[in-house]
Amino acid sequence: MQSLAGKTAFITGAGSGIGRQSAILMAKSGARIVVCERDEQAGQETVAAIVGEGGSASLVVADVSDDSQMRSAVDTACSRNGGLHVLFNNAGIFPDGDGSPVDTPLDIWEWVIDVNLKGVFLGCKYGIPAMLESGGGSIINTASFVAVMGAATSQIAYTASKGGVLAMTREIAVEYARQGIRANALCPGPVRTPLLEEFLSDPEVKARRLVHIPMGRLAEAEEIASAVLFLASDASAYVTGTTFLVDGGITASYVTPE
Ligand code: NAD
Repeated sequence: MQSLAGKTAFITGAGSGIGRQSAILMAKSGARIVVCERDEQAGQETVAAIVGEGGSASLVVADVSDDSQMRSAVDTACSRNGGLHVLFNNAGIFPDGDGSPVDTPLDIWEWVIDVNLKGVFLGCKYGIPAMLESGGGSIINTASFVAVMGAATSQIAYTASKGGVLAMTREIAVEYARQGIRANALCPGPVRTPLLEEFLSDPEVKARRLVHIPMGRLAEAEEIASAVLFLASDASAYVTGTTFLVDGGITASYVTPE
């Protein structure tokens, strides 16, 4: 297994789904985990799952879209663990009401951009100086396959936020490459997590999504976590600035086989 021994990983939204599975896998690989969550109980459950298996984890409660909360969350993570080596900006939302540009209310647009895009910016704003002080590291920012292709179901704010994450991550990768920081945009296809399950509870919407996936199924959060571990570890030492698709073949397909 790829080793993260001696490294500290700060993971936003680690109380559920992809973030939680990535935290558990990175802890098994030897990292000290800092769970950064808005939902205290969910965050505590992830910490308990890791500590129960003999791993190292602690919680900071913060809303990724809040400047002062993110600054103090990163400070706390560094003072508890003596540095920061892996930054996984994973927290994201996909609320009801995010639809076409015509129908989406302005407050929904602003909320999605605040969490999904500003949240990643703030993670980088405070995480990068801490990583530089720690001798470098790996940033994984969560975008989505919808950052590279049009969604079949309308979700304009979500799509715009993920496009922003992808572009921002490329620039960070280029700017910090010679200072020992790598940055990659993780672009998952649809994953079976609470974020998507509610949306896909409508069978028609679900069928419309599945028809575009050559593998014919959603990803499991554990499958995305494996990619995150690769990007976090030195196994990906020459990988930076990528649009790292983990999408069951969606972006490769024009016509999906029967
Ligand atoms: P999830 O809903 O299961 O988990 C998201 C976690 O983020 C929750 O624990 C939630 O409490 C936390 N969170 C939400 N807003 C927050 C905030 N403001 N501050 C701190 N924490 C906050 O979601 P998931 O499916 O695991 O998604 C994780 C990431 O992957 C998101 O960025 C999402 O957009 C992206 N993604 C998901 C899919 C999918 O199909 N599930 C596909 C592509 C990309």
